[in-house]
Amino acid sequence: MSVSRLFVDADLAEGAEAELDEAQAHYLRHVMRRSEGALLSLFNGRDGEWRATLALRGKKAATALVGQRTRPQTAEPDLWLCFAPVKRARIDYIAEKATELGASVLQPVTTQHTIVERVKVDRLRANAIEAAEQTERLSVPEVREPVDLMSLLGAWPAGRRLLMCDETGGGPPIAEVLGSLDEAARAAPWAIVVGPEGGFAAAELEALRRIKDVTAVGLGPRILRADTAVLAALAVWQALVGDWRRPTPRLAADYRTSREPV
Ligand code: SAH
Repeated sequence: MSVSRLFVDADLAEGAEAELDEAQAHYLRHVMRRSEGALLSLFNGRDGEWRATLALRGKKAATALVGQRTRPQTAEPDLWLCFAPVKRARIDYIAEKATELGASVLQPVTTQHTIVERVKVDRLRANAIEAAEQTERLSVPEVREPVDLMSLLGAWPAGRRLLMCDETGGGPPIAEVLGSLDEAARAAPWAIVVGPEGGFAAAELEALRRIKDVTAVGLGPRILRADTAVLAALAVWQALVGDWRRPTPRLAADYRTSREPV
């Protein structure tokens, strides 16, 4: 039977009892039909990943009895994804893919040409948690409330590098820019900014270009949908700047252990 991997709020330490929320208890008991003592793998974004066993409480509740730590908490890239919200299905897709691709913050931004107004942040958070559980991350990206792009730029944190995906042909190829960074630039906090279907407005392009640590880049000769541009830019950034540059010994070495039948 495969091991269910869950994100919890509780502190994780050997012998601790981690409270599972109602949805998790229902999922384990009635969807996965797990019984007392079933093996779990827990993470909380702070204490690494831990083995645990399921403890049923009454008819509906459940907790997890924490055992051994299986992975220490490790630093992950400090990479914000600032994206103009797109239609519902695609924005859920962006939340899932940006989580798998290691973004640390998902920041929806409203722009002059943004079509979608209301962003259901709770649903995006749920998508991000589910994706983090599946992709075996040790953290869940922080999903923030939407902000207007101009306000975000007006308060841009000093030192955070801004990679602006500019389809107006304003920037050199992304691989040329990210492939020639020095170590200090690679180790800096970063953000990737992708515009809406209608593209950035002129005033927005101006404001983006005024950011001190901005770098405009092209993503090839074709106009990509916003969600495609998000994926493409995140993948290239991880490959040339982020944690795809490191070998993945964990996946190679113990991939089977987290999936072998128990
Ligand atoms: N302005 C285009 C559509 C913009 S696509 C039009 O009206 O058809 C949505 C966003 O994806 C853009 O704002 C940009 O951030 C990114 N993007 C799409 N294709 C790109 C490319 N070839 N190079 C750089 N960025 C791109």
